[in-house]
Amino acid sequence: MKVLVANLGSTSFKYRLFEIDDTQAILLASGGFERVTEYTPCIESMLQTLMDEGHLDTGEDLDAVGFKTVLGKDLSGCVEADDRVLEALDGFKEVAPAHNPAYAEGIRCFREKLPSVKRVALFETAFYQWVEPAAREYAIPKSWRDIGIRRYGFHGASHKFVAERSAELLGSEDVARRAKGLYVDGPGEYSGSPLRVISCHLGGSSSVTGIKNGVAIGTSMGFSPQSGLPQNNRVGDLDSMAIPYVSKMLGITIEEAENQLNKQSGLLGLSGIGNDIRDISKAASQGNAEAQLAIDALIDSIRHWAGSFYFKMGGADAIVFTAGIGENNTEVRSKVCSGLEEFGLKIEAEKNESTRLGAEAIISADDSTMKAIVIPANEELVIAREVFRFMNTQLISTSN
Ligand code: ADP
Repeated sequence: MKVLVANLGSTSFKYRLFEIDDTQAILLASGGFERVTEYTPCIESMLQTLMDEGHLDTGEDLDAVGFKTVLGKDLSGCVEADDRVLEALDGFKEVAPAHNPAYAEGIRCFREKLPSVKRVALFETAFYQWVEPAAREYAIPKSWRDIGIRRYGFHGASHKFVAERSAELLGSEDVARRAKGLYVDGPGEYSGSPLRVISCHLGGSSSVTGIKNGVAIGTSMGFSPQSGLPQNNRVGDLDSMAIPYVSKMLGITIEEAENQLNKQSGLLGLSGIGNDIRDISKAASQGNAEAQLAIDALIDSIRHWAGSFYFKMGGADAIVFTAGIGENNTEVRSKVCSGLEEFGLKIEAEKNESTRLGAEAIISADDSTMKAIVIPANEELVIAREVFRFMNTQLISTSN
């Protein structure tokens, strides 16, 4: 089955084409466009490239297009990207303004351009559907909870990949199988050997998730992707009283305050340098104290959440680093893991410093009882697999 995974940013369009069956997923092609203002020309250009490269005869040769939709009102899981999905994205467009309108537009463009190709959405919130109510609910009035204000969690496809792959690397086949089948079989009862993983997705936007036996028990992001760790230029967690206070003191509207929290905060706001940790690290190494503060604040927040999941899971067998910062920034990795030898976590500096771009690596010492692992992010593979399963269940139900 040929599955195209479309990754729609507010200003970018990236794609990966997989040939997938029950046993394997082969990446046939990938590409993307930056500074995008309209998706239709990108889709046309992508299809032309895929045809020129001999992967497709026509666009209709695709079996399905998968979308990593972020947050839907009253909707999650892996579902057909139909009007119900468009309504759900629209219902929460204020909560995920950088993501929801982009996906809604992208889905519409594919529907127009390739009407016979099935469109499937895998919501980023899907991985958190089994989180206990106590870890999911905010302490707010019922009327607020009734309109959907709660912790949803994001980066679900990335953390799910970590759940699957870390279990394989740690030799826990039972957990790997459970994690892979989660969206079809549900978690069910688990009686195999336990595996507790702290997954750190650290990139342009970042989150930490606790994963027990392949299933998420909680995550740092809450109602919106605005929350949790400091993000590249978004604030992360903030006391709600700050907004009315800032509005009064600085004479700005709530909308302007929100805009500044969305665009001028996070690593950018703290460092005053930029939103890319490479530039911030360089400034810090030249003695810029604010740049160092931004890095330290990120590290502190990662440790805060990792510590929370360590307690909640009664320990951890591994901490995993993934995404742009997690895969490449040795300072963040070593400082997150520092001073934890008594908890059984020992990073080996040489292993930490010598990881290769795009490669998996165990960076803890051989006698470290808690492993520290680098796993390159592979959200697209998770989406392709879920789309494949979704298509198969649909085929079975239509033929019944
Ligand atoms: P997103 O998909 O959310 O944009 P990525 O996982 O691509 O995130 O991560 C992007 C971030 O990762 C960049 O902002 C940068 O801070 C960091 N990053 C990417 N590559 C490197 C690298 N080689 N060294 C250090 N940091 C990197």
